[in-house]
Amino acid sequence: MQRPQVFASLLERVAEPGEAERAVSAADEIVRWPVDAVEILESQDLLRRARRSSTVTCLGCERRCRRPVCVVHGSSATAKDFVSSCHLIPGMDGFRHAPERLRRWSSSRMIVASFISQQLGLQIRGQDEFARKIRFGTWRYGNLRRAVSLEFRDTAEIVVGLSRIPLNELIIWSEDVLIFDKEALAVCADGSMELQRGNKRNQPSDIVRAHKKRLTEIRDQRLQKAVDSFNVRHPRWSKQRIAKEIARSGSFQNVSWQRIARVTRIRKK
Ligand SMILES: [Zn+2]
Repeated sequence: MQRPQVFASLLERVAEPGEAERAVSAADEIVRWPVDAVEILESQDLLRRARRSSTVTCLGCERRCRRPVCVVHGSSATAKDFVSSCHLIPGMDGFRHAPERLRRWSSSRMIVASFISQQLGLQIRGQDEFARKIRFGTWRYGNLRRAVSLEFRDTAEIVVGLSRIPLNELIIWSEDVLIFDKEALAVCADGSMELQRGNKRNQPSDIVRAHKKRLTEIRDQRLQKAVDSFNVRHPRWSKQRIAKEIARSGSFQNVSWQRIARVTRIRKK
């Protein structure tokens, strides 16, 4: 799983109906995410460590029931083993579980809202009962003044002016940090005003299409920057090799190396 997909999964989880405050993410899923991506999410407080899981899915039979995990003292004084047993197979040795497999995390809609608040430097002004709609103050960017809110439907969306943009599309994964792409937000916010001022009434689908186009343009510019930086570091690499390297890095969502090669160029020195 690549990094942007990790964040997309997290947003889908917190968007699920349920408690507003503390949606505990299932360890079974997160332990399969790339460790470095989880670390970045933790370091930015988007994922918080929760108590270790006290149950596991039974490994002994096919019922997939939850079984309690017992802590057993291991060979040395400090070593601990985490063991579960199957109730259908008496006398069988317990199953040992690595402690990192029992890790759990929590996140919530309000945790995501705090991240946005921090990134945009805006206070949270209000929220509905289940924290599915969170309002921030007015965002100022250059000459722009726009009300910003965060809404959870199937995923998280940023609403700015008339635009509604999936949050995941506004996030840049740089080396070891997640950055909210304010430039892209500004373009979408600006676009929403242009469309609003137009003579003809625009259908919502036109607005969405216009934003998609802008986001694609912005992404292509970012891809070009990535190609340029590889080209500086590895002047002998072919465009194809650079494109494959960028696709593998996982910094861009759903972009094949072929597409990267198509929309970028190697600048002549
Ligand atoms: Zn069992």
